[in-house]
Amino acid sequence: MADAPKYVYFFGGGEADGSAEMKNSLGGKGANLAEMTRIGVQVPAGFTIPTEICNHYSDNDGTYPEGLREQVDEALKQVEKVMGAELGSKDNPLLVSCRSGARESMPGMMDTVLNIGLNERSVQALAEHSGNETFAWDSYRRFIQMFGDVVLEVRAREGEYHDPFEALLQAKKDAAGVQYDSDLTAEQLKELVTEFKTEVKSRTGQDFPDEPIDQIWAAIGAVFGSWNNDRAAVYRRDYGIPHSWGTACNVQAMVFGNLGDDCATGVGLTRDCSMGTPGFNGDYLMNAQGEDVVAGIRTPKRIEKSLKDEMPEVYEQLETIGKTLENHYKEVQDIEFTVQKGRVWLLQTRNAKRTGFAAVRIAVDLVNEGLITPKQALEKRRIPADDLNQLLQPIFDPDGKAEAQEAGRLLARGINAGPGAASGHVCLTAEEAERLYNEHPDEPLVLVRRETSPEDLRGMRVAQGILTAFGGASSHAALVSRQMGKTCIVGCNELNVDYEAGTISVGDTVLNTGDWISIDGFTGEVFTGQVTTKPSEVVDVLIHKTLAPEESEAYQRFAQLMEWVDEHRKLGVRTNADQPDQAIEAVAFGAEGIGLCRTEHMFFSHLDEIREMILARDPVIRQDAVNQLLPFQQADFAGLFRAMDGRPVTIRLLDPPLHEFLSARHLEEQPGLAEKLAAQLDISVEEVRSRTAELHEENPMLGHRGCRLGIVFPEITAMQARAIMQAAVEVQAEGIVVHPEVMVPLVAYQTEIDNQSAIVREAAEAVFAETGTTISYQIGTMIEVPRAALRSDEIAETAEFFSFGTNDLTQTCLGMSRDDYGGFIGHYRENDIVPHDPFQSIDQGGVGQLIELGVAGGRSTRSGLKIGICGEHGGDPASVMFCHRAGLDYVSCSPYRVPIARLAAAQEALASV
Ligand code: ADP
Ligand code: MG
Ligand code: MG
Repeated sequence: MADAPKYVYFFGGGEADGSAEMKNSLGGKGANLAEMTRIGVQVPAGFTIPTEICNHYSDNDGTYPEGLREQVDEALKQVEKVMGAELGSKDNPLLVSCRSGARESMPGMMDTVLNIGLNERSVQALAEHSGNETFAWDSYRRFIQMFGDVVLEVRAREGEYHDPFEALLQAKKDAAGVQYDSDLTAEQLKELVTEFKTEVKSRTGQDFPDEPIDQIWAAIGAVFGSWNNDRAAVYRRDYGIPHSWGTACNVQAMVFGNLGDDCATGVGLTRDCSMGTPGFNGDYLMNAQGEDVVAGIRTPKRIEKSLKDEMPEVYEQLETIGKTLENHYKEVQDIEFTVQKGRVWLLQTRNAKRTGFAAVRIAVDLVNEGLITPKQALEKRRIPADDLNQLLQPIFDPDGKAEAQEAGRLLARGINAGPGAASGHVCLTAEEAERLYNEHPDEPLVLVRRETSPEDLRGMRVAQGILTAFGGASSHAALVSRQMGKTCIVGCNELNVDYEAGTISVGDTVLNTGDWISIDGFTGEVFTGQVTTKPSEVVDVLIHKTLAPEESEAYQRFAQLMEWVDEHRKLGVRTNADQPDQAIEAVAFGAEGIGLCRTEHMFFSHLDEIREMILARDPVIRQDAVNQLLPFQQADFAGLFRAMDGRPVTIRLLDPPLHEFLSARHLEEQPGLAEKLAAQLDISVEEVRSRTAELHEENPMLGHRGCRLGIVFPEITAMQARAIMQAAVEVQAEGIVVHPEVMVPLVAYQTEIDNQSAIVREAAEAVFAETGTTISYQIGTMIEVPRAALRSDEIAETAEFFSFGTNDLTQTCLGMSRDDYGGFIGHYRENDIVPHDPFQSIDQGGVGQLIELGVAGGRSTRSGLKIGICGEHGGDPASVMFCHRAGLDYVSCSPYRVPIARLAAAQEALASV
């Protein structure tokens, strides 16, 4: 097959066909094995079969393209040559691993098989060649176990609690009276191999394959097949990885960390990825094989604590390799290594996953160390905008914690693996966590496990915090929670988790499922009961002003980063706020104005007056009731203008259906209310009831709301306009600049905005005439129904600005009620009917098109029309990025999302130059 395309990419002996640039094809693992080989880092030889072959395999009933087999044979010969060993040899047998590896890392989601190439012949040779018979037979038994599980699918059946191999292993240890696998003798391991093979035969009806090349092909098939297993598919959905990518397969010569006391295996980080502190760190196990560390079976030792003493030369090699890699990749690396007889071999490197804390610290530090530029520091992959959230997250209140300590509530200590503080109810299984969460989404949960596996993902997602008894800082629980930004403690060895009894205990202290527990992800401390939490340092500096900026390094790095952010972003960021204190917080977080002030929130504190207004049938009486509201509204608006100190303030006229203020339910739930209202208005109780009943709507979302209220009840609009203008005059007189922007909600027709605009202008002119002052203000509209987007050119003849209300625009574009979609959205997500929740992140294909239409139409009439967005989407990074591309002037979001929106805006500005 001389002219078959290149299917196999070799690496070894200092040369490699592939490189780091080829991630899409070779997967992250394969591309970086090639890259490390190129830059002279010691890597066992091997080759990568690209992701395209995985897709071919999936699409063609598990078959391969012509020519692949020959290329694999050829590459295997090269590996044998570089490693000086031969597959199945009687003297020096080559063993290989077969490893999955996608474009983006999906830790533990797909399969890997180690020690391939062993059979009755080569195991003898391995024993002789290594001079270690126990090692050889242990490798063989591990191989059968792993291959049996992954390739032959010999696993626990329905109703069986234990993996069949684990059961045999346990029985063997019990019979031998030993505790650890490593205490078994060569003879006992030999027996175990026979028992394993018998088990395989009895469960599959087939002999365990002996031929190394057959074993390799079976493992390659299993690796490609594992791309489509359930947990990998769930993971991809969660992390937005396309199902079409496929995994690569890496076949690589084995090196051994379990050949004796000058051997080890481990995983390491070139900097701490929980808090971002500089310095190589990680987990290792002496005399062990790689999967032992990740599996969390034995609690590993810490590299930075004891490796320097135990294996000083190895420690030095690792530090040098860490530096080489950081300098080359300009990024913190997460590595997997094995030490064979004092020599370090790298088996993997990738950009490390990190918490938001660590991400900010590392990015800023790398700039200050001269490795990257500020622009690079802002890259989306370095600091996902959403992760800034973690810097604003609570920690335990020191007093509350001291109190808990004094009261003897410190239960145990583990390894701090994910920052933040969490208090919640103990739950022991992922299913239980999911169930409790669905029943009471507001009750915090802490998932407590012996260790976690990919099956626990869903439970981890709904929990506030995660606590495990086993595993190290690189165990599954630690990795996943770091990525999710969850508070996490692992390796809390004192903890006894009894799944059957539904309890956890340390000594005599027993907690039941449902009891409160509190975990400190910064220190690894576990407390019984609740501990009150306290805000982050950034929040303390910016909002509470209880901490001076120079006292907090975390704040200083945040501030430095945000300075770079503001240099590069083009999109403005405003906030949704209707109270002065919220507005002040948002400004501290960098908000440049208010994009949405919902006036109805103010009404809720003056229910008596608004109810009178609603009940009044006579316009004169209604006018009277409305006028009573005026001073309150004016005071509220004045407070906001002062807080915003010259920044624009967009005020939306009354929007919600009136029965939110008064409905039959209110009358039912508050005895005496009807009578009170009747007395106030001097009408009969009967009339109160019948008028209230008239307000009932079958579908309020599409009912009498938005500008439809102000059109039918013009006195409401007039009062609100007057309150805004009088407040503006009042505050301007204090020497504060004011920029009111009056926003009309739910407009569909130009005539609607015309109608409301005239009322506002009339009220404004009256105020200006009365006070002898003028205020410059604008009248604009929300674009939140499809018709408004379609006729935006006409609407812009009257409207002086647009703001996309994407909550309603999503409801009306998709015909999907935000209050009812909970019933099916879960099913939609799980079955990939929708790529994401359209109320969390803009549906760019549909709602996005309406936005683009609206922008184009509006600006065709009024070039330079100011356009923003004020739905919940304004704080969602992907939506912010979309808004930048759509040419909007600003996004508006809740105060705590402001820094996130700023970063996302800068990232998109940098990505699209
Ligand atoms: P995952 O993607 O789940 O981390 P890997 O393919 O990286 O799976 O394999 C898991 C571990 O198995 C590695 O970290 C390493 O310790 C061990 N391993 C894999 N291949 C080899 C090899 N050729 N020699 C020694 N150990 C290996
Ligand atoms: Mg790995
Ligand atoms: Mg709306």
